[in-house]
Amino acid sequence: MSSNDALGRLSAALRIKTVSQLPGPDADYTAFDEYIAFIGKEFPVFTKICELERVNGHSLLYRWPGKNPKLEPILFMAHYDVVPADDADGWKHPAFSGEQAEGRIWGRGALDIKSQMTAHFEAAQTLVGEGFTPERDIWFAYGFDEEIGGASGAVKSAEHFKKKGIKFAGVLDEGGIVVSGAIKNVKSPVALVGLGEKGHVDFTVTARGAGGHSSMPPATTAIGVLSEYIRRVEKNPMPARLTETVLSSLKAMSVEMGTAVQLATGSPALFGGLLTKILGGTPETNAMVRTTFAATMIQGGTAANVLPATASANINVRLLTGDSSSKVLEHLKKLGEGLAIEVACGPAAEASPISPSSGEFYDKLIGDVKAAFPDALLAPYLVMGGTDSRHFYEVCGNVYRFTPLSVGNDEKNTMHNINESISVDGYLKMIEFFKSFIRKF
Ligand SMILES: [Zn+2]
Repeated sequence: MSSNDALGRLSAALRIKTVSQLPGPDADYTAFDEYIAFIGKEFPVFTKICELERVNGHSLLYRWPGKNPKLEPILFMAHYDVVPADDADGWKHPAFSGEQAEGRIWGRGALDIKSQMTAHFEAAQTLVGEGFTPERDIWFAYGFDEEIGGASGAVKSAEHFKKKGIKFAGVLDEGGIVVSGAIKNVKSPVALVGLGEKGHVDFTVTARGAGGHSSMPPATTAIGVLSEYIRRVEKNPMPARLTETVLSSLKAMSVEMGTAVQLATGSPALFGGLLTKILGGTPETNAMVRTTFAATMIQGGTAANVLPATASANINVRLLTGDSSSKVLEHLKKLGEGLAIEVACGPAAEASPISPSSGEFYDKLIGDVKAAFPDALLAPYLVMGGTDSRHFYEVCGNVYRFTPLSVGNDEKNTMHNINESISVDGYLKMIEFFKSFIRKF
């Protein structure tokens, strides 16, 4: 593989506008078909060795047959849908240009997460060229609707594996990364290896009022009641809790987080309360220790001089391991006591199980992470967002989330934002990482 060719292929991948499509009559999968054709054309060695199976139209499964069918296969994941992007928002290089400039490749999907997919292909193609055949089957699964929940993609692929009775020794998806400057006081890069992820669910809260003309109003209206309720929600968070995963993260980073955290992580039984209090202090660390609430949408009122008959709000909730959506519903209902409020729970993605921080797959992964990023602190991690991999626990107990890429915090924040881009060096290193890791199987 010439590295220039590899960069060109990633650029080309970023030019195809595979923006997630809500299922329905308006869904347009032209770009997705174009992307699949692009894979076949640009990665002929990969697609020759790995047979493609399409699940539910656009979810892609590739199997690289290993020498020993008795060994449990492993699975690499990513997704090729992206969130929308608009050049008018101020991109330095157009959002779907794949431009190579300033030592970077620019475009939506550069970090989230077409790069991981094409890096798999590059790594596998190079290995094939070197005469490598894996011991066990290696599967690759790519969703096409991760950014909108994965119901048509990852869910169907996981069901497909389950139906076929295929179980995996390990799964590696996106979700963790090597990041610098994201956590207060921690100067070293931190390799976040995701063992699990928070869940998410939306609650609709509705306040009802009498309605009528606004010239002789009651003391409060539906909007007033709703506002009071939302303030209650903000002032009464779910209790903070130190989960085992978060404690392991902290232990890894505590050397640089100051003496208080260092002491406390050494004796969590004694200082757990203090720790959760410190962590509750910033939004980033607060999200690690509790289920969070954010009022994200509000609706109510029809005219300036009409009392609103209803007012409603959406509360977006991120569920910490151990907090179920029904437990949160109880909490939210209780906060509404004495107010004319109804709380309804939407469809929930509960917090995922937690994969073990031990075992063959994990140890091999960690070995390679340490070798590739020797300066990084290694932190097992609870992913704050959601990934496709949460759907795979029924076919694998060892599901991990890690992208072998080192980024600064500002760089990381270009995901789902303007100026998403990946450094050329980082991308080439990612390919090397997958090469080395695949070789272990
Ligand atoms: Zn993603």
